[in-house]
Amino acid sequence: MVNLKLEPKVLEVLKEKIQLIKTDEGAIYLVGPIQLPVELYGETVVFQWYCWLNRCEITGNYLEIIDQLSSANLAEYQQSSVLVYGDFENADDALIRMHSICHTGDIFGSKRCDCGYQLKQSMKSIAENGTGALFYLANHEGRGIGLFSKAMAYVLQENGYDTVEANESLGFVDDSRNYEDAIQVLKTLRTKPVKLMTNNPKKLDALKNAGLPVSGREPLWGDKSEYNEKYLQTKIQRSGHLEEEGTCPND
Ligand SMILES: [Zn+2]
Repeated sequence: MVNLKLEPKVLEVLKEKIQLIKTDEGAIYLVGPIQLPVELYGETVVFQWYCWLNRCEITGNYLEIIDQLSSANLAEYQQSSVLVYGDFENADDALIRMHSICHTGDIFGSKRCDCGYQLKQSMKSIAENGTGALFYLANHEGRGIGLFSKAMAYVLQENGYDTVEANESLGFVDDSRNYEDAIQVLKTLRTKPVKLMTNNPKKLDALKNAGLPVSGREPLWGDKSEYNEKYLQTKIQRSGHLEEEGTCPND
């Protein structure tokens, strides 16, 4: 039962911008495109932004979904989103990045990892490429362990554990990230192959195995410092990341 009384105009406007994507567990409701001008290395770059929400119920009556929003406490959870640039649907050569949320790196600019650098650099590369998309995956904090557990893992790292050991000591598998939703959204926005920006061949395989049409891989290294040297080395030595000649590791 829908309790919310919306002005007809409100539903009319929103309906135009919502897409229903059916999944095995229910549905993804994708809202966008929304114009998002972004400050990027001193220039303003205009992206198209989409955000999505997973729900169990599958309905084309979006009023049912809108009706739940005010009581769903969404700010207590994370929602993922994607920044799209250029003619993403039709262009031949699109560059994409599946970026795992990193509260400390992306927001605070922490130098313990290279996430903040990779986020900005991938947005820049996408704009320079002419088209592409940056998926910002909100349930991927700390490779899927969550922010609080990541803080605990950092404490262990300050006591000599490497990234992988720290996560495993807390009872987590090294990498529990899932890309299914993002791939569903990607397939809704584009069916042609994409080139993936990553240094992580496992990520490339995971995405290919999940049905992502990939035409190639582009490395994304940079921002090496005394603070993240060990973290980057662990990525290469323990997590199988590919080191690029003359540069240094991330992802
Ligand atoms: Zn990070």
